[in-house]
Amino acid sequence: MDYKKRDEAFVAHTYRRFPVFLEQGSGVTAKGDGKTYLDFGSGIGVNALGYSDPEWAAAVAEQAGRLQHTSNLYYTAPAAELAELLCKLTGCKKVFFGNSGAEANEGAIKAARKYSYDKYGKGRQTIVTLCNSFHGRTVTTLAANGQASFHDFFFPFTEGFVYAKANDIADLTEKLTEDVCAVMVEPVQGEGGVHPLEPAFLRQVASLCEKRDILFVADEVQTGMGRTGKLLATEHYGVTPDIVTLAKGLGGGLPIGAVLFGEKTEQVLQYGQHGSTFGGNPVVCAGALCCLKRISEPAFLSEVAEKGGYLKARLEELPQIDKVSGLGLMLGFTLKRGTAAEVAAKSAEAGLLLLTAKEKVRLLPPLIITKEEIDRGIALLQKVLEGIA
Ligand SMILES: *Cc1c(COP(=O)(O)O)cnc(C)c1O
Repeated sequence: MDYKKRDEAFVAHTYRRFPVFLEQGSGVTAKGDGKTYLDFGSGIGVNALGYSDPEWAAAVAEQAGRLQHTSNLYYTAPAAELAELLCKLTGCKKVFFGNSGAEANEGAIKAARKYSYDKYGKGRQTIVTLCNSFHGRTVTTLAANGQASFHDFFFPFTEGFVYAKANDIADLTEKLTEDVCAVMVEPVQGEGGVHPLEPAFLRQVASLCEKRDILFVADEVQTGMGRTGKLLATEHYGVTPDIVTLAKGLGGGLPIGAVLFGEKTEQVLQYGQHGSTFGGNPVVCAGALCCLKRISEPAFLSEVAEKGGYLKARLEELPQIDKVSGLGLMLGFTLKRGTAAEVAAKSAEAGLLLLTAKEKVRLLPPLIITKEEIDRGIALLQKVLEGIA
């Protein structure tokens, strides 16, 4: 009966788990082993509507009872509806559905290279990403990550990635050599430590790309779907990417990734050039559609922005916290004393689930969190921080 022991015995040890067992959830709260947790991590930015939102769960259950999978040989309603709504809301022209963030980025990388090959022939295949970036854990997206720690063990990696310093337009310009077909960036670096890019930098990247017909790819796997208070974080910056990737928050808790193609790229991938058995799965798309309809409401998004501001202000009041960074409900903070890992571990013990990113404690609460729930989380965090000598 001890699931922790059984998990340790039979699940590969690729994750260092918290000693927390979860069995049931509702909204911002999850329970297991007789304990109750306030979750400020939402399954790493996934459970945008919180745990088992009734409307979302009904949409998923209804579709599961109607038609659960067809393969991409046939048309189904949920994928068509979801793609149409994504295009209407973002201005993109076509959508490809996959199953995860890394897979969405793989699709973006393939499309970027093929766009260049179609137009300019061989030799223009390099993709510039940023130092400290995170794009996934497949062999190709590991190579795309601008962090040396991801470039071990699994040789040979996919070639053709070059890393430029974030917020350093001179360095990026230098890296934009003749062989470059795309620049791929996260508007706010998430795993790398919750670092929003400077607006002037991102606007310069977009304009340099435009001038030189280099594709501007935004990895919005973490920042997208309302996380920052806009449907896409790039909206804050007033830039329009040629390709956007989404995943984490898109499915509301079910695995989905999406590549959104703009005008330049909508025709690049043709029959047989990309695919996925599970991509566009009706059950997953029915959940994502429910999620997207709710999140894209202007009132919902402005509340995310407001609650993000409130959470940031509450964190800044705590004397043990050094600096708070982030955008909307994607926040991180450094500590004056103790480590992020220590704070996350002690918080979990106290009933508050938090994340870490590098040296920071990271918060990605469900977007439906209330101010009252923020206050409860802050009270728990305050106690934990007071206990760190
Ligand atoms: C989480 C994340 C990914 C990887 O997504 P997976 O679903 O784990 O493959 C890629 N890019 C960014 C910015 C992410 O935050």
